[in-house]
Amino acid sequence: MAPKTTSVPEKLFECEVKRRRVRAAGGYEPFWKLKSVADAILDGDTEFRCKECHGPLKLHKRHTPGAVSHVEHKLKSDAEHCVSGARFHAATDGRETRISATPVA
Ligand SMILES: [Zn+2]
Repeated sequence: MAPKTTSVPEKLFECEVKRRRVRAAGGYEPFWKLKSVADAILDGDTEFRCKECHGPLKLHKRHTPGAVSHVEHKLKSDAEHCVSGARFHAATDGRETRISATPVA
């Protein structure tokens, strides 16, 4: 049996998605756009990151009526130090927020 860990459910409803735009000098350049998870799914976005710590996210799609799709931090270490991380808010040691150690660029 797997060792028991304290589970802190996390539900984020906003994320940044990677888009491309035309560069003035020609060609395309990537940029990150903030949108709701529901919109990102509707738009067919495939690359996500946290809007606060820029860490990778895990997508939880919901298909049942009334249930809302959401994302959570893929890495526990991000959720523990992100300003929007559930584990960060659950911590009581006065820790500080930080950018993800493995930010999605
Ligand atoms: Zn984050």
